[in-house]
Amino acid sequence: MTPTVRFAPSPTGYLHIGNLRPALFNWFFARKPGGAGTFILRYDDTDTVRSRIEYADAILEDLAWIGIRPDAVHRQSDRLAHYDAAVETLKATGLLYSCFETADELDRKRKRLMARGLPPVYGRDALKLSDAERAALAAEGRKPHWRFLLPNFADDPAKPVRTEIAWTDLVKGSQSVDLASLSDPVLVREDGSYLYTLPSVVDDGALGVTHVIRGDDHVTNTGVQIALFEALGLAVPEFGHLNLLTTIDGEGLSKRSGALSLRSLREEGMEPMAVASLAVLVGLSGSIEAVDTLEALGDRVRLEDVSASASKFDPEEVHRLNADLVHRLGYAEVAPRLAEMDVPDADAEAFWLAVRANCARVADAAVWRDVLFGLLPERVHFEGEDLAFVTTAFDLLPPEPWSRETWKLWTEAVKQATGRKGKPLFMPLRRALSGLDHGPELAELLPLIGRERAVERRP
Ligand code: GLU
Repeated sequence: MTPTVRFAPSPTGYLHIGNLRPALFNWFFARKPGGAGTFILRYDDTDTVRSRIEYADAILEDLAWIGIRPDAVHRQSDRLAHYDAAVETLKATGLLYSCFETADELDRKRKRLMARGLPPVYGRDALKLSDAERAALAAEGRKPHWRFLLPNFADDPAKPVRTEIAWTDLVKGSQSVDLASLSDPVLVREDGSYLYTLPSVVDDGALGVTHVIRGDDHVTNTGVQIALFEALGLAVPEFGHLNLLTTIDGEGLSKRSGALSLRSLREEGMEPMAVASLAVLVGLSGSIEAVDTLEALGDRVRLEDVSASASKFDPEEVHRLNADLVHRLGYAEVAPRLAEMDVPDADAEAFWLAVRANCARVADAAVWRDVLFGLLPERVHFEGEDLAFVTTAFDLLPPEPWSRETWKLWTEAVKQATGRKGKPLFMPLRRALSGLDHGPELAELLPLIGRERAVERRP
């Protein structure tokens, strides 16, 4: 079967690493070897107060930065007629019933049950109302909300009471939800707006979603939603629930979503594959490392290997992964960014290969651009013996053309003339030439600095 999956964020904020996880697992599932599956981006934007078009646009842009390009995009706000039709079907079959309790009344009912040591499950009082009682409540100006009658009762005396919905989870294996422990879910609010449960099922059915892969905070919803798929006569998809990520202190990621948003990570100079690798590999069995391409990352993923419990996630790891990745990034991948940084075209490739191991972010190359092609950020001040040594050394700079061999030739000559060797020979030269006491191999740097700029750096 060709899979159809969906990633269904609410456009109420920017995507963060925690949301990227289900997005990527769905993407890999659709694109797994041999699978030309369909990846749908669905905006769950029925909450008109919190949903914003800017966030919806940002989600698409952030996914594209990672390399995810949805095959189709849908907005729930465009699909309300489908949900209205489903509501009519459920009402007609008696599976959606009106309730008039206020939030306070419901709260009091829950508290009374809890005081008696009972689970706070809604007792279906509204089902027991007569038509006349309902009319009277409506006449008082009360507006109903609507609950879905879970199938945990014998609608037909010949059928056994169904208290459990079970499925084989793509991640967690055998799963079940005890319907008797749940209240009939509210599907439609007093003001006619939809909660998440029904639109999601209607869309998954209408859009032919075959596999629902999402966070394991939705396991209970899945029990309810399977009942709803069946009530609406829709094909029930397969489900996979991914463990959630928490910070080192066990806090949910969404609370820190600002700092971990894809947007802020991109602005901080993180490479998309560092971010994607971390989002996916936390909570899998192997080591967490930067993987070069989405394809290779997808090859590492098997849903059944995802850890069953929440995984602790250290946001700092993204810096380590990023540095690893940058150290091996090929020139072609950074050429446009180097051009933007005004690294001279002719030397750009040699420059990148010389400095990349000293960059934790591509943007760090700017420091080396200044060192090699511009003005030194800071000139080192030499005195006494060191000053005499460096001046003698600069007098011995070989004539051009310069190559990788020039450094060796030069330092041999300096050694002969001054008797210095090892660090006392190299370090003052490094400091005079680069203004720094660390950095890439001088053999690589010297030909890029060139004789003219080198001479200018003579103390
Ligand atoms: N909008 C829901 C969420 O972000 C979607 C859950 C689902 O994938 O069904 O939690």
